[in-house]
Amino acid sequence: MAATLRPESWVQVSAAGLYCLPADLYIDPHRAVDRALLTHGHSDHARAGHRSVLATEPTLAILKARYGESAAGSYQALAYGQRLSLNGVEISLVPAGHVLGSAQAVLEWQGQRVVVSGDFKRRPDPTCAPFQPVPCDVFVTEATFGLPVFRHPPAEQEIARLLHSVRLFPESCHIVGAYSLGKAQRLIALLRQAGWDRPLFLHGAMERLCQLYQSFGVELGWLRPANRDAGPLPGEIVLAPPSAVADRWARRFAELVTAVASGWMRVRARARQARAELPLVISDHADWDELLETLDDVGAPEVWVTHGNEEALIHAAGLKGIRARALALIGRGEEDETAAAAPAEAP
Ligand SMILES: [Zn+2]
Ligand SMILES: [Zn+2]
Repeated sequence: MAATLRPESWVQVSAAGLYCLPADLYIDPHRAVDRALLTHGHSDHARAGHRSVLATEPTLAILKARYGESAAGSYQALAYGQRLSLNGVEISLVPAGHVLGSAQAVLEWQGQRVVVSGDFKRRPDPTCAPFQPVPCDVFVTEATFGLPVFRHPPAEQEIARLLHSVRLFPESCHIVGAYSLGKAQRLIALLRQAGWDRPLFLHGAMERLCQLYQSFGVELGWLRPANRDAGPLPGEIVLAPPSAVADRWARRFAELVTAVASGWMRVRARARQARAELPLVISDHADWDELLETLDDVGAPEVWVTHGNEEALIHAAGLKGIRARALALIGRGEEDETAAAAPAEAP
């Protein structure tokens, strides 16, 4: 065990993002690099243009669906638990429970282990493998919902509210705003679990990613395009990117009720801004309690916070005797806005 090894000497914040020096590897870099490890397919983590990309098979498929086959020079798939050695650094990927294919990057060098969580959540999600805590010396975490006010209710409860509204207003079409990667497929799976066996209608921006999930064996049931031929759809549920909910596109539907599914729906002003009559607090990120629980589970004496509400988490970590600091990585936490426009997005 190299007691004197400082983790900053081999995992650093560079201009392109988090960098593992001995492996010459960037993790979720925000600009094109020679060698990138991508934790998951959201656009604020998976950018196009890298010379080589290391990621799980689903993440590579999402990257190609998003940016085209030539999103990177070369691709290398790493399955969960599989190990790879790069210039003496042992690299493996462990489920992060965030979206299909999402992974924590586990880096080991000279007896020291750094885990980069990417984005993660702890709630069960029928569309992806559950988060697995890995004991480590340094845990690199997000803090998207790193404030005590963020305590997500059970997703099943929010789905029940949606279905209650659907039964209450049978003349209405319910449109649910959800990010195209991850949230949409999780909502579909949760609706199926709740017994909704009607077809679900999809905005065009979601079709491809839903097909991709299905191709990886995720059951989504009967999906149909919410195009002009579908008609006004009274009594049905339509899923669309959040930006489409208040758009002209949505006006074709009968006596519309608009819902938006996001962890941010806890914040009244955000729900208003998103024009959500029915805000559904369903998040793909850890809430406050789960962030703290995760710090306990991984037991790292040192925590680095990449983005989000860093200050409260750093303070709470300090109370647990953990040395914590903010990395202030740029370009993170924007997936919510950009995911909706993913197909047309410039690399
Ligand atoms: Zn994400
Ligand atoms: Zn993110």
